[in-house]
Amino acid sequence: MIKSEASKKIQKLRKDLERHNYLYYIEAKPEISDRDYDHLMRELLDLEQAFPDLVTPDSPSRRVGGAPLEKFRTVEHQVPMLSLDNTYSREELEEFATRVQKGLGRGSFSYFVEEKIDGVSIALVYEDGLLKLGATRGDGRYGDDITENIKTLGSIPLRIPIPGSSFQGPVPELLEVRGEAYISKDQFAKINQEKEKNSEEFFANPRNACAGSLKLLDPKLVAARRLDALIHGLARYEGENPPHSQSEAMAFLKDLGFKVIPDAKKCRDMHGVFGRVDAIEKKRAKLQYEIDGVVVKVDQFEDQKTLGMTSKSPRWMIAYKYPAEQVETVLEDIKIQVGRTGVLTPVAILKPVQLSGTTVSRASLHNQNEIERLDARIGDHVLIEKSGEIIPQVISVNLEKREGNLPKFVFPQKCPDCGEAVGKRGDVVVIGLFPNVKSPVAICCLNPLCPAQLKGALKHFAGREAMDIENLGVSIIDQLVEKGMVKDLADLYYLKITDVEALERMGEKSANNLMEGIEQSKKRPLPN
Ligand SMILES: [Zn+2]
Repeated sequence: MIKSEASKKIQKLRKDLERHNYLYYIEAKPEISDRDYDHLMRELLDLEQAFPDLVTPDSPSRRVGGAPLEKFRTVEHQVPMLSLDNTYSREELEEFATRVQKGLGRGSFSYFVEEKIDGVSIALVYEDGLLKLGATRGDGRYGDDITENIKTLGSIPLRIPIPGSSFQGPVPELLEVRGEAYISKDQFAKINQEKEKNSEEFFANPRNACAGSLKLLDPKLVAARRLDALIHGLARYEGENPPHSQSEAMAFLKDLGFKVIPDAKKCRDMHGVFGRVDAIEKKRAKLQYEIDGVVVKVDQFEDQKTLGMTSKSPRWMIAYKYPAEQVETVLEDIKIQVGRTGVLTPVAILKPVQLSGTTVSRASLHNQNEIERLDARIGDHVLIEKSGEIIPQVISVNLEKREGNLPKFVFPQKCPDCGEAVGKRGDVVVIGLFPNVKSPVAICCLNPLCPAQLKGALKHFAGREAMDIENLGVSIIDQLVEKGMVKDLADLYYLKITDVEALERMGEKSANNLMEGIEQSKKRPLPN
């Protein structure tokens, strides 16, 4: 292919890829399959490899991740990234309204209320429509240049307007927007599943996972984490027809192809604001991203300017935080579970307590390091927290309530199930989401014949996500392993009806059902 021809083809591919990207990430209405998208991307990557001087910084090929960096460059924020004042009560919100009225010298103005995303703050700078800089908040004045990592986020435009967006008119010469990067709840679960598979320590919550990902120096690894972002602010605008308010700015950014906070509305008064506070709290658990409250802004930019800021935060904006779903209870025991990959995971056994509508008697303690960090000891009063649909976790220990000399918790040196030695495995072969990542290796039972690991493996194997073997429940698996009837996964398929009937609480009918379930599963492809 000659260069001019390649150039044309590349242009076309880029336009198509960015349009499909927009349809997928922002409109959630994809027109082509992931496979076809990957195919187009492959074609572009091949052409760019053949004609390297045709590579541009806004090519969608950057989304799969460029070359690793040595370290991040420090950048100064032209407009500081301020922190927000937090309030926890409606009275404080009323006081905010009173202060704003006084500051503006009038009682009538509009608010803009939006979900407060519990993510990682980012700044994006566009020059003549091209994404020039993606930066972290840092200390508010200086942040890290993480542009190459930011480019891997499918919902962030590399160039505006995005092909397929509804924007018409001139693009500002300079545009800086602010937003929150986050990891969706589904993706967070996937990342931790992958970590479990690789015997690595878990991320405590989606925000930690997101912050940790953005700090990676290899953009390819960031791409694999599949981060997302929501835009909520306009920091700089140089060009014709600037927006005059937060609501106008968000509509404008949406037109350009940005993914703005979906639930954000203008309110005429505090009555309206409280209505939004209640409505957003109700659907909080159902969202794919974590929120910890709402942000209330004075809508008009002119009014924002009049109000100005204190030494650390703007006077025209405030966060209302939902009551934390936290409660204190007694840590009655720490049980060690052995997973199917042999990882020893400590679980807090709690004095049962009510937390956001459910009775909680167990919480995650993640790993040995976490127990040491918290200095959690059996008998302590601990604070537990539940966020979204994630299992509750121990947040802190109330040392004031510690009575007497509670002994430090000693992590077992032997597998609680098989009694064999535990330790850190050597070099873990890491595949899938995290190629070549070295992360803290968890403590594992090193016995390949460990019954707890076999039980875990069988439960996984029989589960919906793998072979989906009907009627093979947890108690049956436990018996099969404990009675030595199943010593590896393949043994399942050599079970005879007479073996199965001999199990406890197993009638003829359920034995038949189980055999049928195993038989049916043979028709399914092997899980990967
Ligand atoms: Zn073991």
